[in-house]
Amino acid sequence: MSKNIQAIRGMNDCLPSQTPVWQKVESVLRKVVASYGYSEIRMPIVESTELFKRSIGEVTDIVEKEMYTFDDRNGDSLTLRPEGTASCVRAGNQHGLIYNQIQRLWYMGPMFRHERPQKGRYRQFHQFGVETFGLNGPDIDAEVIAMTARFWREFGIADKVTLELNSLGSSEDRAAHREALVAFLQANTDKLDDDCLRRMETNPLRVLDSKNPEVQAMLAGAPRLPDYLSEESEQHFSQLCERLDVLGIQYRVNERLVRGLDYYNRTVFEWVTDCLGSQGTVCAGGRYDGLVAELGGKGSPAVGFAMGLERLVLILETLGLTEDIRGAVDAYVIVQGDSALLKAPVIVEQIRNALPDCRIQLNCGGGNFKKQFKKADQSGAELAIIIGDDEVQNNQVTLKYLRTQQEQTTISIDSVTAELENALQR
Ligand code: ATP
Ligand code: MG
Repeated sequence: MSKNIQAIRGMNDCLPSQTPVWQKVESVLRKVVASYGYSEIRMPIVESTELFKRSIGEVTDIVEKEMYTFDDRNGDSLTLRPEGTASCVRAGNQHGLIYNQIQRLWYMGPMFRHERPQKGRYRQFHQFGVETFGLNGPDIDAEVIAMTARFWREFGIADKVTLELNSLGSSEDRAAHREALVAFLQANTDKLDDDCLRRMETNPLRVLDSKNPEVQAMLAGAPRLPDYLSEESEQHFSQLCERLDVLGIQYRVNERLVRGLDYYNRTVFEWVTDCLGSQGTVCAGGRYDGLVAELGGKGSPAVGFAMGLERLVLILETLGLTEDIRGAVDAYVIVQGDSALLKAPVIVEQIRNALPDCRIQLNCGGGNFKKQFKKADQSGAELAIIIGDDEVQNNQVTLKYLRTQQEQTTISIDSVTAELENALQR
């Protein structure tokens, strides 16, 4: 026998038993983002490698270690997208959606990063993301954060996630801070590990991100970015905080929050949870006013976020919030007898006409009563619709409730849609 071919490590199938949860999550996200008047954009999964190098930054974990990059048959270097923002800006520039315009966009889909697979960290994972363009003020920062807060309320996990917030200032603010930080790090090189030494040269802000406890202890005395914020940046941040306060959205200002991508300025935020062990960030974003121009467009302010859907699903599962999500079938039709075999499909089509949202599976392949009941049970249906020769003769069907103690009833075909509607609302 030939060997079974397996999926690539870290790239998961989403099986029929799991898709109902994903569909539910996706539909809640779509509903919420629609309630803010945002439009969907769909970008290709493969882009030219240059796009990510230029936007995410050469000296970032993603570009240095995590990208799936390959040459296509023409010898062009292509990359499976590791995130959506760069592609979205590229598409916006290419199609003239950004310059001098306001855009509020969202996307959802797979992203690829060559990381060590573990709980909450995969090589193909899925993000839901929002990007807005053309708005400078803290009002839009507050809007996208309010949207994320609404997601958690909708999913019933608002008390399981906390918001961390910081301002990185403008590029000038950062340059001034960077200079002071490099001087400080240079005076403390004996306490830096190799990774930090390298980052000190290439991207010193990312030393602040180090997970090394010794480095963290030394950083207690480092120049603080907040001390270098210009008045405009400070005002932007305090006005954002004020808006969040008025909206009743709690946050913790975390000066160390810098994010792993180069393009952010001013607002950065992360929603973190302690339900997931070390993969605790479910959603992360911020402002990236320089990126549109960096990618060749005429400048435009921008702010957005991306949410990791696997992590969100894991939180819901950990908290037992996925148990009530229904599978693919609401009602299963059991058929007995020759005339019923012929008539049942017609009846079921009529029910589908009247109740298009009801998911009805018709038994195929015959089988005795017991066998069909077993299939009805396995389908996850709430109820069985039994159509036998007697029922066909009398223009009736029998409803049997599979998950409750309710008595089975035989009713006329005319009243079946009302009865089904009723039964499925419960
Ligand atoms: P982390 O610090 O966990 O590596 P990140 O800063 O690299 O996250 P972003 O690039 O900001 O992550 O992506 C936004 C969100 O996408 C993350 O907060 C997380 O929920 C999710 N995410 C990122 N990488 C992965 C991955 N490899 N597997 C699953 N989800 C991921
Ligand atoms: Mg990462």
